[in-house]
Amino acid sequence: MLDAKKIAQDFPILQKKSRGKRFVYLNSAATTQKPRQVIEAISDFYSNHHGTVHRGSSEISAQATEMFEKAHENIGKFVNASMQETVLTRNTTESLNLLAYSLSKKYLKPGDEVLLTKMEHHSNIVPWQQLALEKGFTVKYAGITKSGELDISDLQEKISNKTKVVSFTHCSNVLGTINDAKEISRIARDAGAISIVDGAQSVPHMMVDFKKIGCDFLAFSGHKMLGPTGIGVLAGKKERFEELPPFLFGGDMISEVFFDHSTWNDLPFKFEAGTPHSAGAIGLSAAIDYLEKIGIEDVLRHERELTKFAFEKLSGLGFVEMHGPIPEKRGGVISFNVRGIHPHDVGGVLDEYGIEIRTGSHCAQPLTRELGLESGSARMSFYVYNYREDIEAAVEAIEKTFRLMGK
Ligand code: PLP
Repeated sequence: MLDAKKIAQDFPILQKKSRGKRFVYLNSAATTQKPRQVIEAISDFYSNHHGTVHRGSSEISAQATEMFEKAHENIGKFVNASMQETVLTRNTTESLNLLAYSLSKKYLKPGDEVLLTKMEHHSNIVPWQQLALEKGFTVKYAGITKSGELDISDLQEKISNKTKVVSFTHCSNVLGTINDAKEISRIARDAGAISIVDGAQSVPHMMVDFKKIGCDFLAFSGHKMLGPTGIGVLAGKKERFEELPPFLFGGDMISEVFFDHSTWNDLPFKFEAGTPHSAGAIGLSAAIDYLEKIGIEDVLRHERELTKFAFEKLSGLGFVEMHGPIPEKRGGVISFNVRGIHPHDVGGVLDEYGIEIRTGSHCAQPLTRELGLESGSARMSFYVYNYREDIEAAVEAIEKTFRLMGK
């Protein structure tokens, strides 16, 4: 069993005070805090080993290259993807933009369809919308049920021989809903479509095996799993990556350059143009080592326990409406509204108590509208360093907020 209080000791920022109170961080779905082990790995790299990767001739530069490639390999291994199947990007957003651009350049033409879901983050909507304007394909959305789950029968109805891509979130950052990525990928495959899993909210919290899911691509972000900002991942089937054109062009992604044409580097570097974020890869690899030491299976178990506890406490208040399915069907994310109080005010008052949550549309405006939440919602989200007292503190502050401002 995971010892969250002990884990929290590894996080320097969680030892700090906010508004003169113990800093309670309940915003990990936005970004996670970093343990000492990750901070030290980055600091050690810059202090002792930093040099240009793939380009230098010195001993130090060779060390930097070796460390970067080792980290690169470790990052892919975490989701059961080989080095050639793992492209490093800046974040999930860049991974999804890469796919929208390269897939639409290679495959998508007028009359084709891309199927998304109504619970997508903006990063899995806007790139497709923009490329649709250019290439003339249509973007469709599978609906959600009243309980906040994906409506699989609607997805099945909307998929046809026109569907070339099915791109969906593994776990909703608003509703917490965990989608059956294996089943949706199978449906896509059977229809002859390419499947893309947005793993931004799943990979950090549960065992995600790229090969077992059977999808074509899996995207996720380092900063949501204890790693640094600026490093993300796109895992993909080798044969898919091989047939796709590159997204960005320049150094490192080429094999040969002539004045009139160029040829591309081997995988994964064909998709990694320019000087890589070597320190980011090393930090993310250290974060993965840290999560593996905890045991990734224990992470979701721990978050579920906290989610159940928070559900009980919040529903006990009688003036809090929670959105999304029951705790057994979700990750550690709870979006909610307090009767008569604007979500921003809830966030503002909680901040006065040293508690950070997120408020607004959570970068999912279409879903927020679909749920009828014109002012958005408040959201608390959990990770390995959260424990019951964090939730108790938040619930107590919500109760005080309601007494102060509620109706
Ligand atoms: N997809 C989902 C489900 C998310 O929750 C997020 C971020 O919150 C993203 C994609 C985008 O991640 P990033 O901002 O790291 O690119």
